[in-house]
Amino acid sequence: MGMEPHILFSVWLFFLGAALGSFLNVVVYRLPRGESIFRPASHCPNCDKPVKPYDNIPILSWLLLGAKCRNCKEPISMRYPFVELAVAIWFVWMFRLFGLSWEFANFAILGVLLLAVSIVDIDTQLIPDSVLIVGAVFGLAFAFYGDAMTVAESLTGGAAMGGTFFLIALIGEKLMKKESMGFGDIKLSLMIGLFIGWKMAILAIFFSSIFASVVGLTAIALGKMKFGKPFAFGPFIALGALVSGIWGNLILDAYLRWAFV
Ligand SMILES: [Zn+2]
Repeated sequence: MGMEPHILFSVWLFFLGAALGSFLNVVVYRLPRGESIFRPASHCPNCDKPVKPYDNIPILSWLLLGAKCRNCKEPISMRYPFVELAVAIWFVWMFRLFGLSWEFANFAILGVLLLAVSIVDIDTQLIPDSVLIVGAVFGLAFAFYGDAMTVAESLTGGAAMGGTFFLIALIGEKLMKKESMGFGDIKLSLMIGLFIGWKMAILAIFFSSIFASVVGLTAIALGKMKFGKPFAFGPFIALGALVSGIWGNLILDAYLRWAFV
């Protein structure tokens, strides 16, 4: 008896995810530096030596090299294998959840985009427009070609989520007399809304606010952060969007059953 096709496909997705994660590492490093994503080929940021193909195998090479550049022995950040492994696991996870469907494609891609945005936001406190534009094209295309959502639902999702964060930013600015939320966060939520539609967008706003509050207040309590100091909100919007987009209906059902027993 051979391996079941869905297991073979999962293995293939794992490798595809790892390879895409490897490309993502290049994107999040080069975009904020204004460098080309495609040229030159990968090189060590310390000694500039091009990385040999056999030293550029996702996850494995980092382990085999002992987390050091082969040439100059400069340590290679754990972020590289982490991102590769994260995308690989994400692809397989989404396939197991949704099967080979438009929803699978929708959330596999959204996860990759949000991981890229989150890393750049943590590094630079900026959200790259180019990733958002690519995302908006994918979000609308999935709504147009797919069966999970209509284009109207996608567009109202973008308007609802972007619009709400715009209002929150406006009110925050009036209350605190300074910029409360970056314009990047507003554009990011608009892009997310195109993927998840307006119903889940409302839930996503709720979740991301809770995640940010819990982490923010914990960081303040631990003395790791000062109140009112800016921090990257993008990763929380990303997390809230994925949780609500993927598990929102499950969570809502569970809540309603619990609230109205
Ligand atoms: Zn080096």
